[in-house]
Amino acid sequence: MTKTLHELYLEVKECRQCGLCNTRTNLVFGVGDEHADVMFVGEAPGYHEDQQGEPFVGAAGQLLDRLLASIDLTRRDIYIANVLKCRPPDNRDPLPEEVKACKPHLIEQINIIKPRVLCTLGRHASQLLLEQNVSMSRVHGKRFRRSGYDIFPIYHPAAALYARATLASLEEDFGRLDELLRAEPEQLPEEPEQAQQMGLF
Ligand code: URA
Repeated sequence: MTKTLHELYLEVKECRQCGLCNTRTNLVFGVGDEHADVMFVGEAPGYHEDQQGEPFVGAAGQLLDRLLASIDLTRRDIYIANVLKCRPPDNRDPLPEEVKACKPHLIEQINIIKPRVLCTLGRHASQLLLEQNVSMSRVHGKRFRRSGYDIFPIYHPAAALYARATLASLEEDFGRLDELLRAEPEQLPEEPEQAQQMGLF
């Protein structure tokens, strides 16, 4: 029988696969609609997320809320999670071994929710789900196809907080995301230009 999201949460709460379980305050599993069409994937919890056990509750989260509102979405319409479920000390970048240890949790989450579109925020989430090194300036705002999912990489909202040009790209990409979500799946080419099938999930 397929696991529910809650059952997965109870399992991940006990995870001891990397050292971050020793320094976190709270697990930040993910929140939102279990049946969402779009799932956003960020990098890792920061200070506020670690304190509250919820993703994107700090300044980047407020910007994300504004961008969602610009396409008539709220947090209740989407699901949101991170590559890492526990905060790296001092908000340092995730280590490869931490990403490797946490990846199965994210993949299980995705396969329970089965969103149409996986919107990856920034380089860490984008390269994990595209399974290749990426430059965000090349991939942002494009649709990629992986294992039956549309992957739509965009800049991380934290990168847009103090950079006008990045914010403008992000706003534009939300417009494209809106179009993608409104398109009938059968109107979209199964194999977009950037398609590459890999046995990810
Ligand atoms: N940045 C992230 O990538 N995730 C969060 O939850 C908060 C900030």
